[in-house]
Amino acid sequence: MSRRARMRMDADALRHNVEVARRHAGARGVFVAVKADGYGHGMERVAQVLAPLVDGLFVATVGEGQRLRKSGVTKRIMVLQGVVSQSEARLCARMFLEPVFHHQSQIAAVGHHGFGLPLTAWVKLDTGMHRAGFNPEEFEAAYRRLAGLKGLRGRPGVLTHFARADEPGRLETAAQIDCFRTTIEPIRIDAGEEIETSLCNSAALLAFPDAGGSMVRPGIMIYGGNPFVAGTAADYDLRPVMTLTSRLIAIRTVPKGGAVGYGGRFVAPEAMPVGVVSIGYGDGYPRHAPDGTPVVVNGQRTQLIGRVSMDLITVDLRDVQATVGDLVELWGAQQPIDAVAAAAETIGYELMCQVSGRVTVDEAEH
Ligand SMILES: *Cc1c(COP(=O)(O)O)cnc(C)c1O
Repeated sequence: MSRRARMRMDADALRHNVEVARRHAGARGVFVAVKADGYGHGMERVAQVLAPLVDGLFVATVGEGQRLRKSGVTKRIMVLQGVVSQSEARLCARMFLEPVFHHQSQIAAVGHHGFGLPLTAWVKLDTGMHRAGFNPEEFEAAYRRLAGLKGLRGRPGVLTHFARADEPGRLETAAQIDCFRTTIEPIRIDAGEEIETSLCNSAALLAFPDAGGSMVRPGIMIYGGNPFVAGTAADYDLRPVMTLTSRLIAIRTVPKGGAVGYGGRFVAPEAMPVGVVSIGYGDGYPRHAPDGTPVVVNGQRTQLIGRVSMDLITVDLRDVQATVGDLVELWGAQQPIDAVAAAAETIGYELMCQVSGRVTVDEAEH
């Protein structure tokens, strides 16, 4: 086996985490986020495991939706950023992709001529995040305009997204839930039938059980990441899905006062063994990781020392039993990704998404 970076996706952990989400969702449907290449795990690989277990998947772009359909996914697929033209809308209709309309320009662009096949559409309401979505004052008119277009399948669904659900107990989230309910009330009454609604990302699904909606949209929790600013994923019975490993390609003795790596960031306080590991920012390991970032070498906890370079990192082997060729876990089953993310002042989401194409993927066990 090569001594290079490898990524493994634990399909059982993925299934387990979906079960956790289902438990919290209750009667609501579960759509799982597989955007950004399935949070870096490989979109098709993730979809193949998840599709049988969920009500739908969602992605950011039409291109991602197309990729999913081409890989054989037959479940519902929501496209968060929606479409920018009639031809994209027709493509969505043909591929049974469900675009979200979040801006007036999209409704104008698709026109009044139908889509070839019926199109299932969603409208995004901005309840306070002030990123994408119609604001409450313009929502009703936009909704009616979209719903009035020729060629829609049923009434459009409505979704919103929370800005601070990862900080449990925030009044802002309660206010967003409130805003959602009041704003959609007129069109709900008008529709005469139940329209589909969706509010919750992972954090809201776990922390705001009364947020409501007919379906939830978890992402990070499905991949075993902690959706919250505090605590750990294990607190919610979530299991890590991604394990990123590499191997020791050398063990050196650095003399006392020897500076390790670019910029000489780490200076050996004593003569000490230093392990050289074949992974770097070219593989997606965060370049900003400081000395002390946790690493597991041959099952033993130790730390990164010295600056991360493109292809290599260096680790502290004092008090570690190790030989060249030994396995190093950067994050995964033994080393929670969130602790690495915290050390590198980022979030698990970003670390997952950044794993690069150079990393060999060990195929999922089903
Ligand atoms: C990515 C995304 C989600 C999933 O968020 P997590 O924090 O990963 O659960 C849900 N809704 C929208 C609109 C998103 O963009």
